[in-house]
Amino acid sequence: MAILITGGAGFIGSHAAVELLNNGYDIVVIDSLSNSQMESVHRIQELTGKEFPFYEVDLVNKVQADEIFHYHPIEAVMHFAGLKAVGESREIPLKYYNNNITGTLNLCEVMAKHNVKNLVFSSSATVYGNPNSVPVVESFPLTVTNPYGRTKLMIEEILRDLHVSDSSWRIAILRYFNPIGAHESGRIGESPNGIPNNLMPYITQVAIGQREHLQVFGSDYGTHDGTGIRDYIHVVDLVKGHLKALQYLERNEGVEAFNLGTGKGYSVLDLVHNFSEVTSREIPYQVVPRRVGDIGICYANPEKAKNLLGWQAEKGLKEMCQDSWRWQTSNPNGYNIAVKQ
Ligand code: NAD
Ligand code: UDP
Repeated sequence: MAILITGGAGFIGSHAAVELLNNGYDIVVIDSLSNSQMESVHRIQELTGKEFPFYEVDLVNKVQADEIFHYHPIEAVMHFAGLKAVGESREIPLKYYNNNITGTLNLCEVMAKHNVKNLVFSSSATVYGNPNSVPVVESFPLTVTNPYGRTKLMIEEILRDLHVSDSSWRIAILRYFNPIGAHESGRIGESPNGIPNNLMPYITQVAIGQREHLQVFGSDYGTHDGTGIRDYIHVVDLVKGHLKALQYLERNEGVEAFNLGTGKGYSVLDLVHNFSEVTSREIPYQVVPRRVGDIGICYANPEKAKNLLGWQAEKGLKEMCQDSWRWQTSNPNGYNIAVKQ
């Protein structure tokens, strides 16, 4: 029996693939390669010394998704596949709704058809909107401010409805805070297309000289230095949480949401200073107005994951910076051979 990883060529899915293989699981990986490259699949095989089936499949195509379950005995699914850029989701909302929602509906339908009912779903802290207080607890009210976030919240609700209709489903909804870092080998990591939206890949591209300076989006938040605070979590810690969630589903029925964060908040400038200290690189920056839709402070209360999954993040900000930097310096253009503009 194997674990199906959707979106397994992507940033987080590729790290999950390595973690699963290293822990003795068989895996099957599917990815449309719409935001990733085959090279990451080769690197997973190289890192683990293990072969596994990979299919270029778009979940929006239900026939293709169905075929995977015909060919392979799947026992559970880790569902990472989705589009994730907040700004882009405002520009092309229908594409986001179609890709993320239709893709998930198709996946759930074929899972039900083949009687595979264990699912670990990649949700996001974005479902908490602008929380009234921190740390954020799973029971906080859910609200979203952009189409990307809305797809996550809608999928969470769809999964709850699914469980109401058939209580044999076992579903872990994992709400990620801010995943950064990379595998310690420097062989797999985050390879954004074009100009990075997220803070850490932007910092590493400035550090390596591909971008002139960082723009710090706002210094007038109610935080110790005025810049936004987030809960940065090492991607390897994050994927370890997925294995714990999988094991939890073996013991428990139902739908349960878990925060995957460290419980510690760092500001944009904290991250910049830590990165500079660890790498001995200056990060020139300019403060610019707030980014539309950004919130001031968000960090997790990760107690539920600790108590029910037996999981907690172990790596600190220093390791996150070191590993992001090792990935960037060993792969200046990510998985792309050509230099990015
Ligand atoms: P990513 O873009 O690197 O990986 C997602 C992968 O899914 C890509 O390889 C892409 O090609 C694939 N994909 C997209 N649509 C598909 C489809 N219809 N069929 C098959 N494959 C498809 O992103 P990531 O950072 O690895 O994120 C993984 C998941 O975690 C996403 O669902 C994302 O929304 C969620 N998430 C990410 C973050 C983050 O900061 N990285 C935070 C919270 C939640
Ligand atoms: N940020 C920034 N400059 C950038 C990218 C991000 O100042 O080029 C800030 C952003 O305002 C937020 C934090 O860094 O306070 C994390 O942003 P990211 O986009 O990585 O994650 P998210 O907004 O989803 O939490």
